[in-house]
Amino acid sequence: MSRQQVIDLDRRHVWRPYTAVRTQQQEEPLVIERAEGAYLIEADGRRFLDANGSWWANNLGHSHPRVVAALKAQAERLMHCSLGVITHAPAAELAAELVRFAPPGLGRVFFSDNGSTAVEVAIKMAYQYFRQNGAPERRRFVSLGGAFHGDTLGAMSVSGVDAFRQHFGDLLFEVWHTPKAGADEAWRDAIDALQQHLQHAGSDVAAVIVEPLVQGAGGMQIWPAALLRALADSTRAAGSLLIADEVFTGMGRTGMPWACMHAGITPDLLCTAKWLSGGALPFAATLATERLYQGFAGGSERALLHGHTFTGNPLGAAVALEVLRIYADEDLLTRAQTHGAKLRHFAASLQGQPGLQRPRSLGMIFAVDLGGGGYHAKDGWRVHQEALKRGVYLRPLGNVVYLVPPLVLTDTELETMLTAVAESLSVVRTARG
Ligand SMILES: *Cc1c(COP(=O)(O)O)cnc(C)c1O
Repeated sequence: MSRQQVIDLDRRHVWRPYTAVRTQQQEEPLVIERAEGAYLIEADGRRFLDANGSWWANNLGHSHPRVVAALKAQAERLMHCSLGVITHAPAAELAAELVRFAPPGLGRVFFSDNGSTAVEVAIKMAYQYFRQNGAPERRRFVSLGGAFHGDTLGAMSVSGVDAFRQHFGDLLFEVWHTPKAGADEAWRDAIDALQQHLQHAGSDVAAVIVEPLVQGAGGMQIWPAALLRALADSTRAAGSLLIADEVFTGMGRTGMPWACMHAGITPDLLCTAKWLSGGALPFAATLATERLYQGFAGGSERALLHGHTFTGNPLGAAVALEVLRIYADEDLLTRAQTHGAKLRHFAASLQGQPGLQRPRSLGMIFAVDLGGGGYHAKDGWRVHQEALKRGVYLRPLGNVVYLVPPLVLTDTELETMLTAVAESLSVVRTARG
């Protein structure tokens, strides 16, 4: 099929996510035909460094040979069966390995398909736990303003990005949100507000949910580990559960295996996805403490009433297992730290440049604001266009330009990416005057 035929069929029949109809119908998309390592390869042959990590999932680079081999080997043995009265080696082995890698104290793993469902599962676990263990009044959830936890209705309820919620408010359950923090100084106030809320109304709260240390889709807002620790302490003191949404921050993205580890905390529930299947398959996990699991001990009337057709899918599990081995064998956590130091240096180099606000980084995440305007602002997309001309694919959040590159990219690839991004920012800044 020719490149143009792909575009024609897309325009006629595909409904793309987060894409304006006008954009889909009038603008030229990239048509990606192949990918390898840190590169996406266009049908016309152009190569782009994937600075978006393909929606933050591609920590290992594209088509890592060991991921491909693990997928093939598992496909020949068992592609899918249910995980009800059945179990299988990939799921069992992966659960054990995830527990070994996780913050200490998380001993149970529930599998699902994506970040949103990992969050839905955590919400339902917390809710049902209190309902059947003598505290049914604990039915409320608390979240941070500006948080993003996914696009399904429960995950949206606990999310606090107005641009994504605005049409759906009536469908969502009530959640208490802190004021939106955004800029660095406001985080103390947001956590203070949360602590006060827990003191006054904590006895109704089932769980507090947070994206530890960085709110991703809310604009790559980075917040201090000391405040995460304070939040965890207050949550515990209120008798509520802490849900850490590490769908994005999991496995090295922040320079530590888990963002929670920067604060030395273990949550009661930890959600993860994106990186977990090496950017290859929809696959997710919700980790829980043994205390939570024991809250479901008994017969079928006490079982967690949740599951998906592809829960624990053997292909996803086998790939995730190989992904964890690759992290160890390729020492990717060290790589995340050395690359992370370069991103930190890059952020420092942009400090004080007119038109660029709050250049910042944490581990393998870099971001800078081109002024306000929220999610629908356009300057970020101008940087996207300039970066494409220079062989880099990045996807902004409104006027927030960010980089979430694969952890495996080489030093040279990282330098090429940063040079292209610096030039692109400069062109857009200058054009704006
Ligand atoms: C992306 C994301 C989600 C949702 O994950 P999907 O796989 O897109 O459903 C949830 N939480 C956080 C923190 C995320 O970054």
